[in-house]
Amino acid sequence: MDGAALARKVRAAVAGEVAELGHVGLATVLVGEDPASQVYIGLKHKAATEAGFEPTDHRLPASTSQSELLRLVEELNGDEGVDGLLVQLPLPDHIDEGVVLRAIEPVKDVDGVHPMNAGFLALGTPTIVPATPRGCIALLDEYGVELEGARTVVIGRSNIVGKPVAQLLVQRNATVTICHSRTRDLAAHLREADVVVAAVGRPRLVKAEMVKPGAAVIDVGVNRTDDGLVGDVDPGVAEVAGLLSPVPGGVGPMTIAMLLQNTVEAARLRRNGGYPGSTP
Ligand code: NAP
Repeated sequence: MDGAALARKVRAAVAGEVAELGHVGLATVLVGEDPASQVYIGLKHKAATEAGFEPTDHRLPASTSQSELLRLVEELNGDEGVDGLLVQLPLPDHIDEGVVLRAIEPVKDVDGVHPMNAGFLALGTPTIVPATPRGCIALLDEYGVELEGARTVVIGRSNIVGKPVAQLLVQRNATVTICHSRTRDLAAHLREADVVVAAVGRPRLVKAEMVKPGAAVIDVGVNRTDDGLVGDVDPGVAEVAGLLSPVPGGVGPMTIAMLLQNTVEAARLRRNGGYPGSTP
């Protein structure tokens, strides 16, 4: 599954929407100098600029206090020129991530991490959905993978990938099993699955002999190893699976494209007065 190609299509469509809206502002906040986070923020800014957004890049030293960070979030919440606001994770240990994410105005929360947006998703009425799970579903749709009634296994139960992707699959009437570090006999679950989403962070955990022939396999994992960047799925799985999203070039580019899509949708939501029945 070619995530780079689909991401190009999504980004072109987003650029059209940005031109229609006139101005779309995306503010990113990075605390500290984590090299991977710097790369991610750089990629997001490049894509945002190419799509016609007006991104603003807030970089704070690792020594920034929680209250200083919260003050910046408040300022950006109140900034009329900012449609989307994302705080890059992970934050330094002395900052409580939950407190910071809850401080983001829900209607600007383009990472979909605020409890209000996570709650809407859990209720089956999604508003702003985390970009990576959205990207996984978009890839499956692009390649015509039938989700209705499909047996799917999601490996990983994080709030940012595993849980939301499982919720999106349930909404699409898939039958979903969520596996995690305490799952007994992961392979037995995988061998039954028509669709697998691996979001673990363990290099090449999923092997060919664990996968049902013809299954669609989405590899979310990003693992830096001595062999370079590898996913959670062993490349040998390509011999057995019907479809496989590669790392790199699969979910990664889709995450960025969906972040831009989320930002355009957040801009429209806010211009239309926010969530129905609420006052964000
Ligand atoms: P996370 O918060 O560390 O969650 C990992 C999950 O995997 C946990 O639920 C954990 O179970 C489970 N797990 C760990 N070892 C396992 C094992 N041996 N068997 C089965 N399950 C196991 O990670 P995350 O934030 O969801 O990210 C997952 C991966 O996706 C990482 O490699 C990350 O870099 C990548 N990622 C990529 C993108 C992208 O744009 N491509 C975006 C986000 C994340 P417990 O809950 O029991 O601990």
